[in-house]
Order: sequence, then structure tokens, then C-alpha cells
Amino acid sequence: MNTSYNIDKKGYYGKFGGAYIPEMLFPNVEELRNSYLDIMSEPAFQQEFHDLLRDYVGRPSPLYFAKRLSEKYNTKIYLKREDLNHTGAHKVNNTIGQILVAKRLGKKRIIAETGAGQHGVATATVCALMGIECIVYMGEIDIARQAPNVARMKMLGATVVPATSGSKTLKDATNEAIRDWINNPVDTHYIIGSVVGPHPYPDMVARFQSVISEEMKKQLREKEGRELPDYVIACVGGGSNAAGAFYHFLDQKEVGLIAVEAAGKGIYSGESAATSALGKDGIIHGSRTLLMQSDDGQITEPYSISAGLDYPGVGPLHAHLYDSGRGEFISISDDEAMKAGLELCKLEGIIPAIESSHALAVFKTRQFQPDDVVILNLSGRGDKDLNTYINYFDL
Ligand SMILES: *Cc1c(COP(=O)(O)O)cnc(C)c1O
Repeated sequence: MNTSYNIDKKGYYGKFGGAYIPEMLFPNVEELRNSYLDIMSEPAFQQEFHDLLRDYVGRPSPLYFAKRLSEKYNTKIYLKREDLNHTGAHKVNNTIGQILVAKRLGKKRIIAETGAGQHGVATATVCALMGIECIVYMGEIDIARQAPNVARMKMLGATVVPATSGSKTLKDATNEAIRDWINNPVDTHYIIGSVVGPHPYPDMVARFQSVISEEMKKQLREKEGRELPDYVIACVGGGSNAAGAFYHFLDQKEVGLIAVEAAGKGIYSGESAATSALGKDGIIHGSRTLLMQSDDGQITEPYSISAGLDYPGVGPLHAHLYDSGRGEFISISDDEAMKAGLELCKLEGIIPAIESSHALAVFKTRQFQPDDVVILNLSGRGDKDLNTYINYFDL
């Protein structure tokens, strides 16, 4: 068993990870693999990255002691306010990092895939910031149901290309993006939006998001006189906000890591995205991980009320945290999440993204001690979800 939960030299977390890619994609991925750590360790890169996080994104995001929520659940709850970032979630931490890598590799063109449009917006934003061409692939069905984010991307200067094959959703958009990258290996960088995909993406994205737990340690020292919380809670779609929130605590066994998945209408309802409960070893989007699949290996269509958790796999880091027992995995249904989201509105005056509401629902299903310090990563704000809240609660 690994003593470290980080990646090994070949890009594996335990038995998960690696780079299972078509031969025609090899040069692109290899260029990135050979250069990403060198680029990221340049002092000038770090300077530019952190300056943008501070002045453009608005970091550090506050660590807020949620007094009324803490009283209700009789434990000490801090919220890490990723919802206050520019563009409303943690995703921009990663797109800022990757656009800076792309620039240093001399890339003139950015492509991305998006499901609900959140990653597409975060990518279009940094492309506008840098004056670089941006093409976002999005399933035709998603384009129809996520009109405001399509409009945002267009306003930011991106071209949104519909993916018209298959189920016309995220996985088809991903296929189109990969096809584009194969055809444009020299001038194009593919910005992946979570800790998924072939090595080095999971590690690169986790490192960019790790600013979240780096800040947590410093902020908790100021507030509690110690760097380590007892628990960190985060929701998991692909797993990037959780990876960032867990990163600097991975080897500190005294910190409990709680990953929250979407159980949709119930884990065994056939309409779920509870990958750890339902998933089996397999390969998706270039890495070996846990994914929901049929007995003959076909990927199962996932379901969650929250678009950001509606993914049939998890990143290889999370598969390893599950497999090794380092992480505690909890599945939360649509109903539990929606109620927890509304409760945060009433108790703290914060409207959370429905993804983050899944993490909040853990307090209803799991007991903590009164003197436990629990940090919940509030991955995003709920503006994008207003229509779903309106329809659900008949507001
Ligand atoms: C996209 C998104 C998620 C899920 O993605 P991860 O990679 O698992 O973090 C969670 N919360 C919000 C607000 C999102 O936009």
C-alpha cells in the first residue's frame, strides 16, 4: 500500500490513473506530460498564477465560521467560500492555471468540453483575459437546456460547437474535443475541467486546485490556532474541488476526508451518479478509474439534479481514496441536497450551488462531535441553479 496518496512516476494513484489514449493523441499528451511540472515550478509562472488568483479571481476565498449552522448541528463548521470566486465556483482556479501553461507552450488556440456550461464559461473567461481563440464543444441537448451559459460563452467571445452524435451530451462533447485535438496537435491546448482524463491532467488540475487547502491551513491557524481540521467535506463530480480541498491533508491521517456523491433519485433507482457505490474498474476518458457501467462494459448514463455531479466516473485520485479506505464516501439524494441547500439560505444567508448542497446534506446523515472542526468546501454559488430551486420548491 502506498504511504502517499499522491501520483507515482507513471501517473497512477495506486492502481488507478495512467494514460489510455489513442496513438494519435500521444504527441499532445506527451508534450504536456514532459513539461507541466517544469512550467509550474518556474518562479515567474507561480508569480503570474498567484497574482491572477488574487487580483482577478479574488483569492484567498474566505474561511467563514458558520455560527448558526454550527449551532444547529452541534459541531464547529467552517465554509470555504469558493462560491465568492469570479465566475462563481472553484473551476476558474484550474482554467487560469491551464491557460498560463498553454501560453508557455506557445499554443494559439484553446478547446474545451462542457456539460452544464460551467467549465465552458470558466474557459471562455480566461481566453478572453488572454486574447486567445476559444472553441467549446457542448452536446446539442445541453445547449438547449443551458441557454444562459451558452449566452455567457458567446459574450466572452467563444465559439460554441454543438456535438450532435450519441446522446448529444457531455461524453459526446468530449469525443468531439478529442477529435479536434488530434487534428490540431501543434497549436491547440485542450483544457480539461476536472481531475479526470489521461495523466498528467488529474495531477495538474489537482495541483492548481490545491490552492484551496493551502489557504485552509493558513486560515485555520489564524482562527483555531491549528492547521489541521478534523474533517474536510466536499462534493465529487469528477472530483476537482474535492481534490483541491483534500490535497494538503492527504497524508495527514488524523484529518477525515469525506467525499460526497450524488445518489440522484436513490443509489439503486437506476437514476443516480453514485460512482463509488455502483462503479467498477474500467477506463473512461483516458484513465483507469471507477465508473458506472453495464456487465458488458458499456458506460451507464448518470443522473443527478445537479448538472455538475452528473458524471459516470470519478477521477483516479478519488477511486484510490475509496479503494484504500482513506476517504469516506457518502451518497446524497436530490431531495436531501435540495433541502440542505434551502437550509443554508435560511440559516446563513448564502444560496449554494446544488452541487455544494450535496456536501451540506452530510450534516443530516452523519454525526460529528461538538469540538470537531469541520471544513466544508462550498464549491459554488446558486445563481445558476435558481430555476431548479424555483421548480423544486414551487417558489
Ligand atoms: C463543476 C462543479 C462541481 C463538480 O466538479 P468537481 O470537478 O467534482 O469539483 C461541483 N461544484 C460546482 C459548483 C461546480 O460548478
